[in-house]
Amino acid sequence: MSGLYIHIPYCRKACTYCNFHFTTGGSYREYFMKFIQTEYDLLLPDWSEPWATLYFGGGTPSLLPAEQLGAFISHVKMNGGIQTGAEITLEVNPEDVNEENIKKWKQAGINRISVGVQSLNDAELQAMNRAHSAATSLSALKLLLNSGFESVNLDLIYGSHWLSDDAWKKTLLWAFNCGVQHISAYALTSEPKTRLQKDIDLGKVPPMDDDKQARHFELLQEYADRNKWLHYEISNLCQPGFEAKHNSNYWENKPYLGLGPSAHSFDGKRTRRCNVSDNQAYVNGIEKRQPIFEKELLSDNDFINELIITRLRLAKGLITDLISEVSPQWYQIKMQIILEMSENKLILFENNRIILTPKGRLLSDAISRELMV
Ligand code: SF4
Repeated sequence: MSGLYIHIPYCRKACTYCNFHFTTGGSYREYFMKFIQTEYDLLLPDWSEPWATLYFGGGTPSLLPAEQLGAFISHVKMNGGIQTGAEITLEVNPEDVNEENIKKWKQAGINRISVGVQSLNDAELQAMNRAHSAATSLSALKLLLNSGFESVNLDLIYGSHWLSDDAWKKTLLWAFNCGVQHISAYALTSEPKTRLQKDIDLGKVPPMDDDKQARHFELLQEYADRNKWLHYEISNLCQPGFEAKHNSNYWENKPYLGLGPSAHSFDGKRTRRCNVSDNQAYVNGIEKRQPIFEKELLSDNDFINELIITRLRLAKGLITDLISEVSPQWYQIKMQIILEMSENKLILFENNRIILTPKGRLLSDAISRELMV
């Protein structure tokens, strides 16, 4: 059940909050998939089974010609293979969605689309320096939903300075009824070195409003319940049967290979690897057939902490036996805290499984920290 992730490091504009690896320049863009394909061929011998999922993320993969994506998918089919029924996702930005691209994406074998709508408010989109308007998103969605993709995901941002509670309610009302099968909703965060963080430091924009973010998250939970959607991961919701398979594999520590600058890989056991976050260095490495990356062997504590952080975010929760197998003393050390959290209704603790309650989900980071070693 291995997944293949392909990082496309190009964007039209730099969104103010973004700390992913990308460039708004165009170097190598027209033939970027050639480098990805070479990296794939170099690494494939370590990965034997056909892929269960493919995910083109970024950056903005919809900026690349669809033919390049299609040629790469065909190459993977013939080398390594792709399982029948595999989920093949493409992240797209609304401004790239048109009938011609949709046709080509489908021909390429893409069966799941994740569209970066983020907001339906033009003032907010401008403040975040997004390259599209709300009207562009609505037309893009209409086209995508009439095109027969197996699943369409909507990316939304909540809790920003520019989003009122009423506007968020209207967005949620629309999102749960517009016809998509999946929603990813993330609180706006101010990451170091982003323009948003600089603007906050300069006093041009106020700091994040934690209370507003909590209110927006509660509304998200409320609308999900009301519409009988599964809130299966803190930031991810879906109609039953439409959980994102690729991302679920990350959260369940399944193996995945990441290609492209800054992409991460995991062998499903203890070894992580992270590609260089520099396009030129990445290309140089691939041209010499010596990809540049850092490798990390997770210690017992790293492994346990990752389990806690990822599994607690899932509705099915954290199976504590997975931790005891590595650290039998963890229970003794943490039992008092676990019981207190349970009494305070932050978690459910049953059958060796810890599940965050709706109240606990608001404090997930703090709860994870308490349980970490
Ligand atoms: S389009 Fe996506 S990856 Fe590119 S800058 Fe904006 S948020 Fe970041």
